[in-house]
Amino acid sequence: MAPGITEIQHSSHVEHKLGFTSAQSPFNCCGCKEIGFGSCYQCPKKKCKANFHLHEECASPPPSLKHPFFPRRDFTFEDCSPEKPLAFCVACGANVQGFRYQSSNEKPLVVLHPRCIQLPENTSSFSEVVNRLGVNLELRKQAPSKCLKCGKKELIGKQIKGWAYACNSESGKYCYHVACVRDSIVENWKKDYLQQQNNGKRNRSSSTASSLSMVIQHKPLTRRKAGTGTDFSAIAKLVLKFVAIVLLGKSVPSGAVDLVLEFPKAMPPSWRCCLN
Ligand SMILES: [Zn+2]
Ligand SMILES: [Zn+2]
Ligand SMILES: [Zn+2]
Ligand SMILES: [Zn+2]
Ligand SMILES: [Zn+2]
Repeated sequence: MAPGITEIQHSSHVEHKLGFTSAQSPFNCCGCKEIGFGSCYQCPKKKCKANFHLHEECASPPPSLKHPFFPRRDFTFEDCSPEKPLAFCVACGANVQGFRYQSSNEKPLVVLHPRCIQLPENTSSFSEVVNRLGVNLELRKQAPSKCLKCGKKELIGKQIKGWAYACNSESGKYCYHVACVRDSIVENWKKDYLQQQNNGKRNRSSSTASSLSMVIQHKPLTRRKAGTGTDFSAIAKLVLKFVAIVLLGKSVPSGAVDLVLEFPKAMPPSWRCCLN
């Protein structure tokens, strides 16, 4: 989207013009049906306001794209009409239910969400990442080491390994699937939304455009690199936070995302005997 364009007409919502804005809470994109947060196009009319949002990527998608993970393929943008067959995004493993990029110039068909195909290849444009981690996060076609959130390398299996952000820092290897972090964001958003409903609308949500608080169920992180005193779990938390920010979009300030990691309680020794 060219800078300065604040109002667009979109074929998916012909009745009103859409305005460029920063959403007050996470939204469901009406184009790709995936979560969004922060800058977006929204219908300013009262009756649509809460329900019509589009990601920037979905509002003015380039008609075709290349991706470095698939150098010989061309991806073309498709909207949802006519109904497309069931497909899973190779990046995040989720069912693609709306706008998509697909490549059929080679077998098999490869389908990607508009946001997934435009995920940054690394975090070089996020200055805070290098400042705080000492290295950039790199987007990888498959996890180079186990995802610290789910404990697996392959997200679903051989078919969909799942893209991941990873880095090797002084204190160890860190890796998170795009899907695992995005699912955490969605889970927290849903919990937050339900809580809001229970408390009544007047109560302020804990997640607003200026903050997103997340409690994330995490695999145990016990490794601590001897000698350096670097806490592996503290770095892992920072990596996870930056992946969340990359997924939420550049318009989200890093101070806006607040994470709490929850770890499963260690099993009592007697249980372990039974399981072994
Ligand atoms: Zn909609
Ligand atoms: Zn979208
Ligand atoms: Zn409208
Ligand atoms: Zn995807
Ligand atoms: Zn994972």
